[in-house]
Amino acid sequence: MDSFIFTQPTTIGQAIESAAKSPTAQQGARVRFVAGGTTLIDLMKLNVERPQEIVDINALPLNRIEPSSTGGLAIGALARNSDVARHPTVLRDYPVLSQALLSGASPQLRNMATTAGNLLQRTRCVYFRDTAHACNKREPGSGCSAIDGHNRMLAILGTSKDCIATNPSDQNVALTALEATIQIQSSKGKRSVPIHDFYLEPGSTPNRENLLEPGDLITSVTLPPPVAGAHSTYLKLRDRAAYEFALASAAIVMKVSGGKIQHIRVALGGVGTKPWRSFEAEQALVGRAPDRAVFVKAAEAALSDARPASENAFKVELCRRSIVRALTMSTMSA
Ligand SMILES: Cc1cc2nc3c(=O)[nH]c(=O)nc-3n(C[C@H](O)[C@H](O)[C@H](O)COP(=O)(O)OP(=O)(O)OC[C@H]3O[C@@H](n4cnc5c(N)ncnc54)[C@H](O)[C@@H]3O)c2cc1C
Ligand code: SF4
Repeated sequence: MDSFIFTQPTTIGQAIESAAKSPTAQQGARVRFVAGGTTLIDLMKLNVERPQEIVDINALPLNRIEPSSTGGLAIGALARNSDVARHPTVLRDYPVLSQALLSGASPQLRNMATTAGNLLQRTRCVYFRDTAHACNKREPGSGCSAIDGHNRMLAILGTSKDCIATNPSDQNVALTALEATIQIQSSKGKRSVPIHDFYLEPGSTPNRENLLEPGDLITSVTLPPPVAGAHSTYLKLRDRAAYEFALASAAIVMKVSGGKIQHIRVALGGVGTKPWRSFEAEQALVGRAPDRAVFVKAAEAALSDARPASENAFKVELCRRSIVRALTMSTMSA
């Protein structure tokens, strides 16, 4: 690990000012915020991240979980994953978020990991994490070792010829189904970005993963008011029951009324280059009766653009089944 300057600002303004000195907020950033450190420090030990300055933001007043001005919930950027998962309002109104968080990592990691850090966790593609291999995300233009290499865990939706890495987060899948908004502050002011727009597909620039610019600090994530009468489910399929990333996951928020699906949000994890909102599945479901044949059609629609690589074709069927199962579970909880 290279040497670096370590600062501990006590105001948001100071933190933003430090980070604004970096030429990029994406791969290769010279200044990085650190929150729980469970992603960043790992990547620094591997020389994948080599910031010259680390800005410890843990003293900033950003860990509250409270009602938002629009009747939803505001989750501070520094709220720990374990606190969010156990929060009474989350358990009552947004259980899919609690389920997703509790399916991730381990209790110790969740005690450290923060809401914003989780939003910005990096892919687990083995070649990204190993500097001996070519990786366009880590070193633009160097090539992609995964396309003809070990790609069993990687994406089948949103891929490009330059990168097929998966966004590995569970939290972000639930936040996508809940239509969360990310609140960002910089020296230019505050802005709000819907989570669906926040992440970028890799295209020819996989080193750019989201809309963040130098000096941007995520301050909170806001959730809209819960949909009255809706039920939700997070289903995660993985190689072992704990301490493992998703091969495929599905977050569902569904409201059935008068025998028809009135409100439906479908988000997928473990299969997309970003937390994947399936508008195709939603379109196939809304207004229909919630039965298995409709669920199967929706799952087929969700995977119609899937492009598997050499080792991960099994994810197409696994993901279809996870969608059907998660929809069925949401109906049973209704
Ligand atoms: C062994 C292991 C197993 C895991 N298993 C899972 C799993 O099953 N499912 C899952 O979803 N996750 C899993 N994770 C990932 C874990 O959830 C993330 O490491 C964690 O959420 C990151 O949060 P953090 O606060 O520690 O981030 P940090 O490491 O502190 O930061 C991560 C990134 O976010 C940036 N950042 C942090 N806060 C802000 C902010 N407010 N504004 C702007 N930038 C910010 C940092 O600069 C850094 O680039 C696992 C991790 C490990 C090590
Ligand atoms: S899939 Fe993406 S992260 Fe993995 S080696 Fe290829 S470019 Fe790098």
